[in-house]
Amino acid sequence: MASEKKPEGNLDHPPQPTPSGPLASRFDQMFPVLSVAEIDRVRRFGDVRRFRAGELLCRTGKPIPGMYVILSGRVKTVGRDALGRSMSPDKFLQQIGGTPDDLEVVPGEVLAELGQLSGNPSPIDVQAISDVEAIVVPPEQLRALLIAEAELGERILRALILRRVAMIETGFGGAVLIGTLRSPKVAKLSDFLGRNGLPFRVIDPDEDAEAASLVARYAPKPDDLPIIVIPGGAVLKNPPKQELARALGLVARTLRSDPYDVAIVGAGPAGLATAVYGASEGLSILVLEALTFGGQAGASARIENYLGFPVGVSGQALMARAFTQAQKFGAVFSLSTEVKQLDCTSENSGPDPVLILHLADGRQVRARAVVVATGARYRRPEIPNLAQFEGRGVSYWASPVEARLCRDEDVALLGGGNSAGQAAVFLSSHARQVRMLVRGPSLSNTMSRYLIDRIGASSNIAVLCEVEIVQVFGTPDQGLQRVRWRHRRSGVEEEHAIPHLFVFTGADPVASWLDSCGVPLDEKGFIRTGADVGSTGRVLLAMETGVEGIFAVGDVRSGSVKRVGAAIGEGAAVVAQLHSFMARRGSAAATPQRGA
Ligand SMILES: Cc1cc2nc3c(=O)[nH]c(=O)nc-3n(C[C@H](O)[C@H](O)[C@H](O)COP(=O)(O)OP(=O)(O)OC[C@H]3O[C@@H](n4cnc5c(N)ncnc54)[C@H](O)[C@@H]3O)c2cc1C
Repeated sequence: MASEKKPEGNLDHPPQPTPSGPLASRFDQMFPVLSVAEIDRVRRFGDVRRFRAGELLCRTGKPIPGMYVILSGRVKTVGRDALGRSMSPDKFLQQIGGTPDDLEVVPGEVLAELGQLSGNPSPIDVQAISDVEAIVVPPEQLRALLIAEAELGERILRALILRRVAMIETGFGGAVLIGTLRSPKVAKLSDFLGRNGLPFRVIDPDEDAEAASLVARYAPKPDDLPIIVIPGGAVLKNPPKQELARALGLVARTLRSDPYDVAIVGAGPAGLATAVYGASEGLSILVLEALTFGGQAGASARIENYLGFPVGVSGQALMARAFTQAQKFGAVFSLSTEVKQLDCTSENSGPDPVLILHLADGRQVRARAVVVATGARYRRPEIPNLAQFEGRGVSYWASPVEARLCRDEDVALLGGGNSAGQAAVFLSSHARQVRMLVRGPSLSNTMSRYLIDRIGASSNIAVLCEVEIVQVFGTPDQGLQRVRWRHRRSGVEEEHAIPHLFVFTGADPVASWLDSCGVPLDEKGFIRTGADVGSTGRVLLAMETGVEGIFAVGDVRSGSVKRVGAAIGEGAAVVAQLHSFMARRGSAAATPQRGA
């Protein structure tokens, strides 16, 4: 796309568009026109192919051979929604500050989308409108280009990221979710698509005749709703997340039968950092993630304490960058893929011993080393409706963002440990009143003295001991509105208008899938590593668990600092230890070699 089309054969001076719109100032970056010299550099990564006028270079929902760089001729992009209707590009053009002319792709332009890094299907139709000659760069070669050609690679990758941002903002080229806007199921699936960084649109059948007829055809019973139409046309009825993930290509279809150098379990900040550093240093890396990339950090509205982001950064944005970065270096991801069990014994002898990971979908995969990055899961007390208000009044974290939302309003805080105490003191300087709801008879057994004193000195913190929350109330629109609790001794219940509830009832490590391997755990179930393991007959590396080939990083590791920065640091550090481990074993992977 280019606002002013350049004459063919003169590719040295890209045109200067004069667009307007939220992403308009970045139009040049989103649709770069490569110079003749740059095109020559691309040539060594691909093959030249010719297309006749009318031929499709990409078809919505179908695999694409790779990134195209147009050499001659003109092609037109057509956005189709998943219903197969050609989508009006107005909103997209408005977003990027373009005109209908910009839907034509001219010589020198790069035709690609972020999903191509991992060979995902095309989100749009692309058709030759004259005879066309183009370089086709397959996904593996595209990744090689991004690494080998630093400056050019940066231009191309930036363009792909900005295009994805525009697609997410407009829903252009994504799945169509058909259901009532206020339905909690629609909200859940929207959240899933959003957390996976995918474009999508929600259409209410009450307002769209075609969507209504699809509902009549595919979802005659209320339980069938919502339905999702995937680019390419597949229709899913109220799908479980796994089924949706498979349809969207998030679950790796094929996993290689040879062992990977490293399997990383968990794609939170610790796992993603391991993937970026490991893959960039030539290890073949497979990342298996039960849900979406980003882990707990991906759920954080704003991370204010991560180095280098003085005004904060959304957890989703930070993690999405890391996810793209890891793919650029060749790490293979399988999302919505839970590891059920680790087998450390079947193939642990011979010249190339491996660990076997059993996946919840019944597949098995082999790796020379496993990095456990499965984090900790915040305990969710069994209070009816609680999950419904997560992120809409109910929080498991008190950052300045949440504190601002509570300004001059009432807050309830569940828990009696140090993290609850710190949060209560912090929130008390923003909220009108903080009520601490504590299950036990006092704070003295569970909280540090200095915090108890501070709480005592705060005029707007009230501590209620021996109480438990029995019910929370609210609406889908307004979120949490009221909290009801019971005094455990008397059984008396009270209910108050409280729009913010913070839950600090601890976190449990996610390590049970390692049970059969005898990985050493501390008294709370976190994985011990390094010197913490005790005597093993040799000095362990800092993140080694003592079970040959198994390393642990991030929140799941005993003694780790439960912070994004710490998790990322551990992910980076473990890679040097993986190299030492492989060198000790004399594994082929000790010599860096790329391959997925
Ligand atoms: C709402 C919230 C806000 C936060 N805000 C901040 C902040 O502002 N600053 C800060 O420093 N810290 C913050 N934290 C803490 C920070 O997010 C964590 O310390 C950090 O995410 C830990 O990273 P991790 O990679 O070790 O684990 P996690 O982020 O927990 O990631 C673990 C991943 O492993 C996956 N997994 C688990 N079991 C399996 C399995 N069997 N198979 C496959 N995958 C599996 C999980 O789905 C998850 O994606 C926040 C936490 C929360 C919950």
